[in-house]
Amino acid sequence: MGEQSLPCQSEIYLDANATTPVMPASVSAVQEVMQDLFGNPSSPHMTGLRAKHLMESTRTLARQVLGAKDGHLIFTSGATEGIQTAVVSALSAVKADNALLSRPRKLLLFGATEHKAVPNTLKHWNQLLGIDAEVVAIPVNQQGLLDLDFIREHAGDALMICTMAVNNETGARQDLKAVEEAIRSQNPQCLWMVDCVQGLGKMSLALSQTSIDYAPFSGHKLYAMKGIGMLYVRQGAPFSPFIAGGGQEKGLRSGTENLPGIASLKPVLEALLDPEHQSFRAVATLEAFRAQLAGALQQAFPGLVFNNDFAVSVPTTLNFAVKGFASKELLDLFDAANIRVSSGSACSSGATRSFVLDAMGLPAWQSEAAVRLSFGPAMTQEQVDQACVRILEAAEALKHSCRHPQQAHTDEKIQGLVQLKSGADCCYLLVAGDQCVIVDPVSPLTERLVQIIQCQDLKVIAILDSHGHGDHQSAAPQLRARLGGSLEEQQVDHLGWPRHAAQGPLGLPALKLGEQWLSRLPTPGHTDDAVALLLSKGSAIKAAFVGDTVLHGGLGRTDFPSSDAHALFHSLRLLAEKMPAKALLLPAHDYDNLLFTSFEAEQRNNPLLAEVLAPVSTLDEDTFAARKTALDDALECPQSASEIRCGVTLTDRALRPEQELSLEDLERMQSPLLVDVRESHEHHLQHLGGDASAPLSRLAQYLLEQEEDKPLICYCRSGSRSQVAALALTRLGRQAYHLKGGVALNR
Ligand code: PLP
Repeated sequence: MGEQSLPCQSEIYLDANATTPVMPASVSAVQEVMQDLFGNPSSPHMTGLRAKHLMESTRTLARQVLGAKDGHLIFTSGATEGIQTAVVSALSAVKADNALLSRPRKLLLFGATEHKAVPNTLKHWNQLLGIDAEVVAIPVNQQGLLDLDFIREHAGDALMICTMAVNNETGARQDLKAVEEAIRSQNPQCLWMVDCVQGLGKMSLALSQTSIDYAPFSGHKLYAMKGIGMLYVRQGAPFSPFIAGGGQEKGLRSGTENLPGIASLKPVLEALLDPEHQSFRAVATLEAFRAQLAGALQQAFPGLVFNNDFAVSVPTTLNFAVKGFASKELLDLFDAANIRVSSGSACSSGATRSFVLDAMGLPAWQSEAAVRLSFGPAMTQEQVDQACVRILEAAEALKHSCRHPQQAHTDEKIQGLVQLKSGADCCYLLVAGDQCVIVDPVSPLTERLVQIIQCQDLKVIAILDSHGHGDHQSAAPQLRARLGGSLEEQQVDHLGWPRHAAQGPLGLPALKLGEQWLSRLPTPGHTDDAVALLLSKGSAIKAAFVGDTVLHGGLGRTDFPSSDAHALFHSLRLLAEKMPAKALLLPAHDYDNLLFTSFEAEQRNNPLLAEVLAPVSTLDEDTFAARKTALDDALECPQSASEIRCGVTLTDRALRPEQELSLEDLERMQSPLLVDVRESHEHHLQHLGGDASAPLSRLAQYLLEQEEDKPLICYCRSGSRSQVAALALTRLGRQAYHLKGGVALNR
């Protein structure tokens, strides 16, 4: 598998807040330590003494950089250890002080946008040491700056206060002088930790001139190795070793010191002390870089909004959102353009929204769509120029998917079925020639649908709903208003179906779309108005939009006022009678990311439905209705209308290990079909060979077009979308595999 259409491009790394590369001088220093200066700093012989000298000279430099004339400066394994040490030290001191411990109100305060290492550490040790304090977040404003009044109000009851110098997601820089004044005006004794991880090299720190008690740092955020960090402890601040043992670091932190790590820090500290800024750019230059990148982003994505306020942020972090794009989609796009950025915080990459932006009170869509672009002070003008070019190329590639914000038309014509999803809601666009039908539109996808329809120059002949939805309003009225034309409200019923549709080849009222027919079959049960829309060529049915009548491994719930479980029993039998067993069923919800199903697949995965459809069924409609009611009762109690699950789903989610291929496994397979399931724009930016491009939204159409039943091997960027595709195909009974680890691990 190799890149084809574009020359192989080097990676542009814009994720410095997650970690940085190691600077060349540090790599050399580490190599030297590994080869020659490998001694144990505790050994009294010459090899040990040399090692000790390297360690102590690095510590001296660190003291200069941090303005830490006195107090302890300890080498740690990283900031998380530094945070543990600070919290354990502070809380152990509290524990030893009865007056503090017996106070009626005890608070442990932390900034609401703090890295999770901080609140989680506070909660952990608060419980383990039996301090029994309340762990409370200090609110922040829209810029991410701490609420100083809140601090003033609560500092008197605080045992420890943890704040940060610079936020890792937004780059927001706290005014530490003002925070100090707020704390100390109320509580001169309270122990104060400042997480300085993202501040090192980006702001001046004169720690000894402050009343900060603890300040953790991390090497890998500023061009040193992973596994090395530092902790500053103010002279006289309580201290308990977090790691006891052989007494290294004057007994403050035992364990043989990480000399390669310490060696890797030294050139970084030297660079920070270099008045000529030969390695690191001056703040003004970094600000100019940020302005240039921001300009390129705004040009590439008109309507883009920045989530961080540059006026209060360090110049090396930009956090933005583009309406209509989830952050994962932009991450996939940037990755295909070989630009590495991050969605929200790298440490919580499973999360779909940013708790930092939520705490700042930004609108939900900005939090869900947040992308962080961050660089270090060693950034060069050439890298910035290249990044800007690449950002514009990436946005341009969106035109291949009709997703460019300013795109009028495209020559790449979509035909057939497009499956769009918003959360668990599915919406379909069916295109034939220059005509299309929309099925089950939902509001969050309105813009996306309008964009596709306009850029493809499509004429919408119907906007249909499979039933009156219980959990959301149909977006059909919105779409009709946006698209106008001949979509007259009065000529259609409340589900958008034309009042005077002729009979089609299935003997049902039908709409003609190119060579295909969409026939309407009433399937009451989930609601009394539910219909299935059968897609056929002549009388050969290929697929059906089934609303909530059949879900992947489940059935639509029948506990709404207009539901009828008995009617559902008959509708299921009627539908199964009409549909070929392998024809695709396209539900209105997809709670488990299974994309599509078929009656054949449901026979295997849907026990109740299998019983309804069994050739010699012993299940009568009353028993079905009773079992169905019991299943509905077991559904989670809905918290809000949008959380109503429209049916029970039961599913087996695992691929067999032999379906997860490595590149070597793939090479051994005989003539499989290689299917790229990335979006079209990713495919255009980084073409990887293969036989077909079928993004998840087009996989149903790919199946509709396929005659052969060859094994399918799906691949994508990281292996997560290809896993979804392989699972969905396997459920249908196809022989499907995926490339484990995606393109990222198999180049
Ligand atoms: N604090 C902040 C602000 C961070 O950004 C990070 C890492 O992302 C940490 C703490 C944890 O650092 P380490 O990886 O050195 O444990």
